Amino acid sequence: MPSIFSKIIAGEIPCEKIYETEKEMAFLDILPVATGHTLVVPKREVLRLEDLTVAEASSLMTAMKIIAKAVSQAYGGVDYNLILNNGPGAGQEVPHVHFHIIPRPEGSFLGFKNRHKYQDGEMRKVGNQIRACIEA
Ligand code: AMP
Repeated sequence: MPSIFSKIIAGEIPCEKIYETEKEMAFLDILPVATGHTLVVPKREVLRLEDLTVAEASSLMTAMKIIAKAVSQAYGGVDYNLILNNGPGAGQEVPHVHFHIIPRPEGSFLGFKNRHKYQDGEMRKVGNQIRACIEA
């Protein structure tokens, strides 16, 4: 059965899309640790980082660099975490490898488990803010 992320990539489940290439897609996490929390997902569904080919992993990191910079710039150049929960023993819940980009404005609580819900319409605004910072 396809992962929830494969369904998002196929357009079967909606998302607030931030960026897309031939090989990866980035979209807002639906239950963010911090506003702007973004997921970067390779389109080919594999469980773990090492299941990607070297070319896929390189392409993913290139996308990460672009998106992470945009997430940071969207909040004034803030610091951020890149987190990969690689396998269920490491806390991975969706069995489709993905990186979390979590902006950390000054004074942030630096945990991973505290989540909040976006208000109606907020995801679109946050998406617009991040997309506007993606460099061509
Ligand atoms: P992990 O625990 O590393 O597997 O993270 C999975 C992430 O996927 C969690 O942060 C969830 O909030 C997020 N998530 C699950 N379903 C969706 C969805 N439909 N759209 C966006 N993010 C999702």
